[in-house]
Amino acid sequence: MAAMGTKKGKKEKPFFVCRECGYKTVKWLGRCPECGEWESLEEHQPVSPGKALLKGVAEPVPLHLAPDGDEERVSTGIEELDRVLGEG
Ligand SMILES: [Zn+2]
Repeated sequence: MAAMGTKKGKKEKPFFVCRECGYKTVKWLGRCPECGEWESLEEHQPVSPGKALLKGVAEPVPLHLAPDGDEERVSTGIEELDRVLGEG
């Protein structure tokens, strides 16, 4: 997981996906209305364009896979990228 970025751009709203049936919602629910499973909704963070560009992946990253320390700002060595990612 060393290649994963730790920078966070604009704060996007997370969304939740049921790991049982794939039901998607922006509001966390204790119980999936689709399959009725309790606490099956997992939080996902939308990936900002800048981040997606860095990673080369446009898919959201499950929170439990994302490293902590999001507030830390590490220089990429690329001025333009730093500027884009430094915002927010
Ligand atoms: Zn479900």
